[in-house]
Amino acid sequence: MSNKKGKLIVISAPSGAGKSSLIKAIINNNSNIELSISATTRMPREGEGNAKDYFFISDEEFNELKLKDEFVECALVHNYQYGTLKSYINERIDMGINVILDIDVQGFEQIQNANINNTSVFIIPPSIEELRNRLNIRGLDSQDVIETRLENAIHELKYANDFDFRILNDAFDDALKSLVSIIFDDDCKDIDTKKSTKILQELLS
Ligand code: 5GP
Repeated sequence: MSNKKGKLIVISAPSGAGKSSLIKAIINNNSNIELSISATTRMPREGEGNAKDYFFISDEEFNELKLKDEFVECALVHNYQYGTLKSYINERIDMGINVILDIDVQGFEQIQNANINNTSVFIIPPSIEELRNRLNIRGLDSQDVIETRLENAIHELKYANDFDFRILNDAFDDALKSLVSIIFDDDCKDIDTKKSTKILQELLS
């Protein structure tokens, strides 16, 4: 086994920006990279499994883990608690496995404040309308939940410039190419920063 440690890659995006599909594609098409499984107090959606998508736990269990300082970061997101487990990621990074954290902007800020070495990427949706469409088509959430997620999206976009990289997800294959480049190429040659900067400015104005 090599002594080289794995990288920690933080990926954030508003709900519906296509983050999960991009992460799934990266993990399925590459070796030596895994998605960290977080703990959450939200209920499993249809098709989700415990220890597969999340560790689904109660508020009491979550608070106990928090008290024991078992989280690298944790946050209240869309009214539920979510947290990254120290043991889960440290074990893999020590084994040389690259680990992706799919976390919200509050979690990212905590990781930055704790000076934990990471590469961070923010996925930008093409428009708020497109986000609404995607959340509706996905059909996983009620209208109330979708509205909360859209309000949060506008807030989250304000943090995009704190990340090392921004990727515009208007075309899946291009976004995937950029993400692969960020994670696996040292010179990140495949990133179109101009387009993402322009759309981000429009979304924030
Ligand atoms: P969902 O409920 O749709 O699976 O996730 C909702 C949001 O919670 C997503 O933006 C996701 O990135 C974020 N999230 C998932 N796990 C964690 C975590 O461990 N920590 C933080 N801070 N956010 C998380």
